[in-house]
Amino acid sequence: MPFASLGLPPSVLRGVRAAGYQQPTPIQQKAIPIILEGHDLIGAAQTGTGKTAAFLLPLLARMLDGPPWLRTLILTPTRELAAQVETNARDYARFTGLRVGVVYGGVPIGPQERMLRQEGVDLLVATPGRLLDLHGRQSVSLEDIQYLVLDEADRMVDMGFAPDLGRILRLLPKKRQTLLFSATMPPDLNKVAKDALTDPRRLDLAPPSRPAAGITQAVYPVPRALKTDLLDLMLGQDEVGSAIVFTRTKHGADRLARQLQRRGHTVAPLHGNRTQSQRERALRDLKRGRIQVLVATDIASRGIDVDGISHVINFDVPHSPEDYVHRIGRTGRVDAVGDAFTLMGPEEQKDLTAIERFLGRAIPRVTLPDFDYHRRPTPEPAGSRGDRFERGERGERGERGERGRAPAPRPAAPSEPMHGRRPKPDEGRRRRRM
Ligand code: AMP
Repeated sequence: MPFASLGLPPSVLRGVRAAGYQQPTPIQQKAIPIILEGHDLIGAAQTGTGKTAAFLLPLLARMLDGPPWLRTLILTPTRELAAQVETNARDYARFTGLRVGVVYGGVPIGPQERMLRQEGVDLLVATPGRLLDLHGRQSVSLEDIQYLVLDEADRMVDMGFAPDLGRILRLLPKKRQTLLFSATMPPDLNKVAKDALTDPRRLDLAPPSRPAAGITQAVYPVPRALKTDLLDLMLGQDEVGSAIVFTRTKHGADRLARQLQRRGHTVAPLHGNRTQSQRERALRDLKRGRIQVLVATDIASRGIDVDGISHVINFDVPHSPEDYVHRIGRTGRVDAVGDAFTLMGPEEQKDLTAIERFLGRAIPRVTLPDFDYHRRPTPEPAGSRGDRFERGERGERGERGERGRAPAPRPAAPSEPMHGRRPKPDEGRRRRRM
């Protein structure tokens, strides 16, 4: 089915062509006609299915020829996702004359105020806290919003944004079209959805229990103390191009990034305590191949869109099955293939079992024949605990990074990503496919 048969106008179709898309994805085929007709929609779709274009394209179509002021608001849980959605919106809107803007916390508010007051936008992507701050300063008016999107709404509620969402909803006109995208529907979100949507259509195309096709999953049972050594070996294999390694805590991500760097890998950490420019730089460096590995936490995993990630490696088994599916969704994006490996210590078997129950199938267990599972862990050099990345151990879920609520202390940190040396193919390891 070509995009042209979905009822999109020529200026939007030109944007789609310029983006290089040939065929609409399943969620785009289903959602675009529903949205064009003006219905509210609840879509169960994970990142990687093409859901962003599924709501942006028909909304841009509906906004054509309207008055030149802010009419579309897209709320996202994280800055990364906000930036990603804005980039997509700019691409698709290129031939429409519509103006696109983005606001999120963690960066100075002044330039965002100037953008809203002086330049004006038709479509705004925002994180909830910063949007309320801007509204409180009378820098943005939400009175004329006709289209509202709640993107990754379950994650917004997870992060404690439900009250902010309620506040924002009260500032919007009652008469509007509302779209909600979410992998799950927890009770708190159900309440928000009841308030926000009117007679919504429902689409359940890619339930979170079905990771995108093309992802090869495997579990590597290994004693906890040997995880870093096993990961080091994995990253040195030929077929591992760029990888995202997930840890549960920011502290764990910093420590692991440091250890990998010391072992010759090119690495940057990505988590909520990194400044916006550090995060952007890390993503850019991974995209350009300047680094091989990002060590990230779950919050950072939402909205990351880096083409060509060959491997997602869970250094820790995620606590929740939803996080597992979201993490491995970073590889194998539309039409691509990728591998998702999980290092599992004996004490993590319970979490893994919950994930397998959620997926409805077992994930194969694999051992690396080259790896001595009875070896002693490689000692870390003395003094390796005092480091330049550590910023405290708080789990990501408690953090907001917005509106000064619970801001993490920010000791001076390098804006440089970590650059090390990539291991050479013949460096004392026999190489084999994993
Ligand atoms: P999303 O699920 O919105 O995060 O999209 C995942 C990735 O798929 C992004 O890199 C999009 O640019 C890409 N994408 C979206 N729609 C299509 C399409 N119809 N054909 C090919 N790639 C697409």
